[in-house]
Amino acid sequence: MRIDTLSILRCPYCGGRLSLVDSLFHRASGDAILDGILGCHCCIFPVVDGIPVLHLQPAATTAREHVQAGRPDLARRVMFGLADGPQSEAFEAVAAAPASTYRDIVDALGPTFEGGYFLYRFSDPTYIVAQAVVRATAAAVLGGTRRAIDLCGGSGHVTRSLLGLSSPPPVLADLYFAKVWLARRFTAPGCEPVCVDGNAPLPFARGAFGLAMCTDAFMFIWTKRQFVGEMARLIEGQAVPGAVLIGHAHNERVWSPSHGNPLTPEAYADLFETVEPRVFAEAGLFADVIGGGPLDLSRRDGPDLLDRDPALTIIATRHPGVFTPHALPPLAPAIGEFRVNPLYTIEEAGDRVRLRLRFPSDDYEQEYGACRRYLPDEVTVDRAVLDALPAARAEGPLADLARRRIVLDLPTRYY
Ligand SMILES: [Zn+2]
Repeated sequence: MRIDTLSILRCPYCGGRLSLVDSLFHRASGDAILDGILGCHCCIFPVVDGIPVLHLQPAATTAREHVQAGRPDLARRVMFGLADGPQSEAFEAVAAAPASTYRDIVDALGPTFEGGYFLYRFSDPTYIVAQAVVRATAAAVLGGTRRAIDLCGGSGHVTRSLLGLSSPPPVLADLYFAKVWLARRFTAPGCEPVCVDGNAPLPFARGAFGLAMCTDAFMFIWTKRQFVGEMARLIEGQAVPGAVLIGHAHNERVWSPSHGNPLTPEAYADLFETVEPRVFAEAGLFADVIGGGPLDLSRRDGPDLLDRDPALTIIATRHPGVFTPHALPPLAPAIGEFRVNPLYTIEEAGDRVRLRLRFPSDDYEQEYGACRRYLPDEVTVDRAVLDALPAARAEGPLADLARRRIVLDLPTRYY
């Protein structure tokens, strides 16, 4: 973690500032803390492999004891949830190899980690809506001079869409150490990861951010009222209004896979005590995105639309630049590298190559089958077009494939 990140961290329990306890074991390098102990008025927390762990769950407490004993290697093992022995040794060998991919490391963490669908995340229907809404809102409220936080952001897929818009780089907060560790290395390089318990007060200073967001996770938070109050606190007190954004919250009135503990549209709105939010049915936002834009955040969806949509997006802000139509951004140079969407199989056919859409499972198709509305079943292209991959830019025929999401800007060393 960067030492200057301490200025926005606060203890979740006493609200006090956190500082490095110099008298206890620590390792620092330049302007970064690699391992050590942070202290406030009431307790102490570990920094493990550069990631502050700001909660008191059992693994965090054990990790803190290992750091204090001068064993940061054991602290990291505990935070990854690895048992001592062959499993952790195999994982550490993969993690230490510079050529390892995101997929290699996910595999080394074992079958209970992540599920199998991360590989397809960048073209799934939930993601493309979240990406468009987050980018439009972030561009409006951050103005290139303020910071965003992605709460419960997992392994950083949506955090990635904040890169270049949040300055300083975005903070990624999640309960799971392994996920934010992966995000920093692959999916959202440059982000500042922090381990946080979303059911406790958030360990950040009032007004530290211009945008506080959470996508595809809010229905799994039990303390929803506290969480929204905390998001509002994180953007309070600045001269320019910030925004709170909750994307892809499931709707209590409509069943969906991995339903969680969702609320009704009006109950989500009632969580906001200081600024009236707008609640959007995601079907309309999805239609805007696959239609090529604009993404119309000036719309006011009525109960008829909200009640029957499985997923909702909620934005609360007084910033005048948010609730307007937003052009979708033009195709930019890759943050990572352009590669063929992993949902496509590649068949050689002479000088031509046939790409066919293949879902990894029936479950995937059930949950994300709406991607058929923008991903063609089959496309044939000149072999020379694909020979240019991986590419930093998508130009000529590649630009067309990238616009159709057959070619994606994926993290370097993703799979
Ligand atoms: Zn404290």
